[in-house]
Amino acid sequence: GKIEYKDAVMSYFENSPAVLKEVSFTIKGGEKIGVVGRTGSGKSSTIMALFRMVELTSGRIEIDGIDISKLNLEEFRGRLAIIPQEPVMFKGTIRSNLDPFDIYTNEQLWNALELAHLKQSVLESEMKLETPIDENGTNYSLGQKQLFCLARTILKNSQILVLDEATAAMDLETDNLIQKTIRTVFKDRTMITIAHRLDTIIDSDRVLVMDHGKILEFDTVPNLLSNPKGAFT
Ligand code: ATP
Ligand code: MG
Repeated sequence: GKIEYKDAVMSYFENSPAVLKEVSFTIKGGEKIGVVGRTGSGKSSTIMALFRMVELTSGRIEIDGIDISKLNLEEFRGRLAIIPQEPVMFKGTIRSNLDPFDIYTNEQLWNALELAHLKQSVLESEMKLETPIDENGTNYSLGQKQLFCLARTILKNSQILVLDEATAAMDLETDNLIQKTIRTVFKDRTMITIAHRLDTIIDSDRVLVMDHGKILEFDTVPNLLSNPKGAFT
């Protein structure tokens, strides 16, 4: 679960300005990292690069010493987990949304739903795991969709988990549920949390502060706060 960015440069289109500008940092295996910065500073883009949604223009990203650009994309991406800023649901059923490739047992599915605090509501719906889900999951709230993404993530059992917090205010209760579950289920995994609220990341091992596609600061919260003129302070 060790992640290293080495002079990573990324832009969304050919010949367009870089949104990651020679970004270098190292996350130790199992570390809990908070990422903060103004809107448009490159937080989500950092994750887009990690998932190879957009390939780097130059530099590289290594996981456990392996250059990720050399790995089989499908296999590699299948081993990372993310709860995205815009939670994704597909037209289908609860089952097909949790387990699109039909690889988990019913017991595993219910266990994930329980840990994601969804078991009760799914049990209460008549068709249980076969409950239909609309295109984009319009029959669910943003918070519920994030909980489904959390359940999917729990099933995946990845060594690396990314949480890109929704910008839109989610209710505090759902937010707390997600945080609590993550803290227990993913205790020994590497976790990157892009935060829009300080309380979600204040107990991270370290916090990465981004600005205009660059790393401004990367340190523990007490160290960051010891600099009265620092960006994080
Ligand atoms: P927020 O807090 O609003 O989520 P962010 O820090 O995640 O912001 P990014 O989404 O990484 O910011 O955006 C960094 C830069 O990349 C911005 O200038 C943005 O306009 C640009 N950008 C983001 N997504 C795309 C895209 N899909 N295509 C082109 N440019 C993009
Ligand atoms: Mg973002």
